Amino acid sequence: MAHILAIANQKGGVGKTTTAINLAAALAQAGRRVLLVDCDPQGNASSGLGIRIQDPDQTLYRVLLHENGPPPLSRPLEELPLWVLPANPTLAAAEWNLTATPDSETVLAARLQPLSDRFHFIVLDCPPSLGLLTVNTLCAAHSVLIPLQCEYFAMEGLSLLLDTIRKIKLRWNPSLAIQGILLTMFDRRNNLSHQVATEIRKHLGSRVLKTLIPRNVRLSESPSHGLPVLLYDRSCAGSRAYTALAREILQKGAHRE
Ligand code: ADP
Ligand code: MG
Repeated sequence: MAHILAIANQKGGVGKTTTAINLAAALAQAGRRVLLVDCDPQGNASSGLGIRIQDPDQTLYRVLLHENGPPPLSRPLEELPLWVLPANPTLAAAEWNLTATPDSETVLAARLQPLSDRFHFIVLDCPPSLGLLTVNTLCAAHSVLIPLQCEYFAMEGLSLLLDTIRKIKLRWNPSLAIQGILLTMFDRRNNLSHQVATEIRKHLGSRVLKTLIPRNVRLSESPSHGLPVLLYDRSCAGSRAYTALAREILQKGAHRE
């Protein structure tokens, strides 16, 4: 059975999509079969792997709104056992239509169930909100990874996210675990980055993952080539960091409560 891992933070620009793509690729590089589900209408996890789809029937939109038929998975890179269930802007309409569906919070969980035996990991890239799409990812996930950018105000909004996770555990998904807080865009030459990282570790202790994702230009360049950083520049700091993150998650055991 696949471990379902949501990458969530309602703040935009904190490194969710970069983490979803590159962690998924690093887990695949480690020999795991991985499905990356793009749950954001912006579709950045899809386009960052070179997938651009106009037809909503070939995206998560159809999977959420119509149960029929096999899900439209693509395998963008023959080097890696990595499949993608893509999204495009029509997904925003799915969020709206879902509100009228019974059990609207658990539709994604139900749709992923039949796929579970085919993968070791299903990674969910969340939109920058706490709306119904994110709620669906948290209802479907076994654990949630929370990227925090090493900037001032990094923890702003975190208590609201943790509170949402608590409510989802109580009502729909009692076994949802926090996989960890991931510090992203760490700049070792910048004092503020060090201060913020120290402060977050002081407040959140062992919930913060050991692996630190550095600010690395290769990570921001690779999506425009449709590649995970591992296939764009194998030896750069970004590749090393996401390889270490995959190892940390595999060693810890993907978290279940
Ligand atoms: P989110 O999905 O949370 O909105 P993204 O992963 O899209 O955030 O990242 C926001 C921007 O920052 C993107 O342009 C991305 O390329 C860049 N970025 C993310 N992580 C890093 C990093 N570690 N180093 C450099 N740039 C990064
Ligand atoms: Mg994103």
